[in-house]
Amino acid sequence: MKEKVIDGKTIRIIQGDITDQKADAIVNAANSKLLGGGGVDGAIHRAGGSSIMAECDRIRKEKGGCPTGTAVATTAGELNARYVIHTAGPVWTGGEKGEAELLASCHRESIRIASDKDCRVIAFPGISIGAYRYPAEQAAEISLATVAAELGESGLEEVRFVLFSSKNYDIYANALERLEK
Ligand code: ADP
Repeated sequence: MKEKVIDGKTIRIIQGDITDQKADAIVNAANSKLLGGGGVDGAIHRAGGSSIMAECDRIRKEKGGCPTGTAVATTAGELNARYVIHTAGPVWTGGEKGEAELLASCHRESIRIASDKDCRVIAFPGISIGAYRYPAEQAAEISLATVAAELGESGLEEVRFVLFSSKNYDIYANALERLEK
């Protein structure tokens, strides 16, 4: 575990399974149709139960889904959290299609929603760094810098990044080390 305090708020990097986390909000690396899938999305729906997908179905019917770079909250079902915040990260296609801004937007929107819902602790996975192929070093830098910039104004006290593999843990921990502030 590695942590840094910025503006009186804590950013923490943890290696593990995000579905084991106790937090106010757990962020899901969803797809824009909110249809569930593999990776962390599948793990969250499996561990949280069917009430999460029931709300995703309703959101899909009402608004068509969750456009890339935006976020939407549902129940956390049986997870140890109040909300799952689903955000659709960008698919990496080389960096010329606005991927960095979309990835930053995922983090800004998730923090804004969590803060509006009076959350204190939010846990993020490594959004876009799996099936969506975003280079993890770049994703870590953007994700951490965005969170650090948003944290002070938010009602949040702690942001966790929960990485499954030791390789990605090291990448995010190194990015936190380098984060200025
Ligand atoms: P994306 O489609 O946004 O790239 P993925 O789910 O494919 O999302 O991968 C995002 C990251 O989440 C990957 O590094 C993957 O190894 C990791 N991951 C998968 N399952 C879990 C889990 N249960 N907890 C935390 N991280 C996970």
